[in-house]
Amino acid sequence: MALLFLAGLVAVPSILLAVERLNFKPGFNLFNPTQDVAFGQEAAAEVDNQFPLLNDPPVVRYVNDLGHRLESFAPNNNPRYVWQFKVVNSSDINAFALPGGFIYVNRGALEAAEDEAQIAGVMAHESGHVVMRHGTNQASKALPLELVGALLSGLAGESGGLTSQIFNRLGGFGIGCWMLHNSREAEQQADEVGTYILYHAGYDPHGMAQFFEIIQKKYPQRTLEFFSDHPVPENRIKDVGAEIPLLGPAKSWTTDRPEFDAVKKHLLALPPPPKAKAAPHAAASPVAPPPAPSNTMIPYNGQGFAIRYPDNWQAKSTDGAVALFPAGGFVSGSGGDESQAYGAFISHYQPQGPTGWGLVDATQQMLDSWRESNPNLRVVKQSGMSVQGRPCLLTEVENDSPLEGQKETDRVLTLRQSDSLLALIFVAPRASFDAYQPTFAAMVRSLQVQ
Ligand code: ZN
Repeated sequence: MALLFLAGLVAVPSILLAVERLNFKPGFNLFNPTQDVAFGQEAAAEVDNQFPLLNDPPVVRYVNDLGHRLESFAPNNNPRYVWQFKVVNSSDINAFALPGGFIYVNRGALEAAEDEAQIAGVMAHESGHVVMRHGTNQASKALPLELVGALLSGLAGESGGLTSQIFNRLGGFGIGCWMLHNSREAEQQADEVGTYILYHAGYDPHGMAQFFEIIQKKYPQRTLEFFSDHPVPENRIKDVGAEIPLLGPAKSWTTDRPEFDAVKKHLLALPPPPKAKAAPHAAASPVAPPPAPSNTMIPYNGQGFAIRYPDNWQAKSTDGAVALFPAGGFVSGSGGDESQAYGAFISHYQPQGPTGWGLVDATQQMLDSWRESNPNLRVVKQSGMSVQGRPCLLTEVENDSPLEGQKETDRVLTLRQSDSLLALIFVAPRASFDAYQPTFAAMVRSLQVQ
């Protein structure tokens, strides 16, 4: 008995380990797979609108054939997932997945892959994000408490109604939400699933990690966006190397097929991708960035509130609203009018309708009114917090910056003040938002509301 048991132990561990390690379970999620598809569909319509797609039949056919072969080996797959693969006509090396199985691969990624196992690795990794439901997992964690309550209190049965309700209240999540919020843990899990898929589809499971390593070294300037959206798991190569033996014995894996080489040749013969619109303008009109905000703060007393702001900023108030901004914080827009690109803007908003309005609805109403003159304004995430014990809503918004060709990040803090909404908008171009974040946080901490 003892001997048998021991023999069993010797044989079993790697399988046990494999089972434990490769237990592919999606994380916390308030949504169901049907809702993943609904969210993905909405966002995919936006992507199709905003991104130049390469609708070249042989390329699209190739990517779909390969994608479907890969997803058929994905763990935790769901028959509801759409599994639609599209090619973005851009030379940036990028790929991304939307919830519910909408996968986009950039032409640059296809051209940079050295063999089919590598591009299959990228697509298998993106499929990993889909089946582990990372998009709605992140959204579930970022959802305001009010909505979590609504979700949990019996609405969960009528999926269609609930989805549209959430869209109405959050104004849709927008593609930014699905594309920017992969955590390191999510990346690691997508790597694990991607490697698993490659192995079972018969591809060299090293292909995925290989591709990520190669492009980072060979094309650092064309992969910036990819790696900012996909934080690199530490020890990626080592982790993948450790996972492979758990999947089963080494086989004679496929690394390449003639179909891949044919598509690559075909792509290289096509006209080059359109140049990104933003770049030339941004280069033509360089605007010196404002000086760094001072750490010394001075008070500003507004209507029903007081706040502190950096002593090298100016305050300009009109109609009860105030702009607090650094030198060069306002830039002239296309129409010759001045728009704020850096700093804070504080104003009161009067919600329409019944007086018993809630914070989420009133904030939504305000954002809707902004959207009339800012068509590209998008809510990225929203969460509840409190300032001096008062409930507040913090909404992160992405918008076009008045600086040509740039995007901006706005953090919008809203709270109820008698019958109006006090809104504090902190704004900076997306690329420099992190540098302003400590100043914005210090301003919020100094806020006194009467
Ligand atoms: Zn990823």
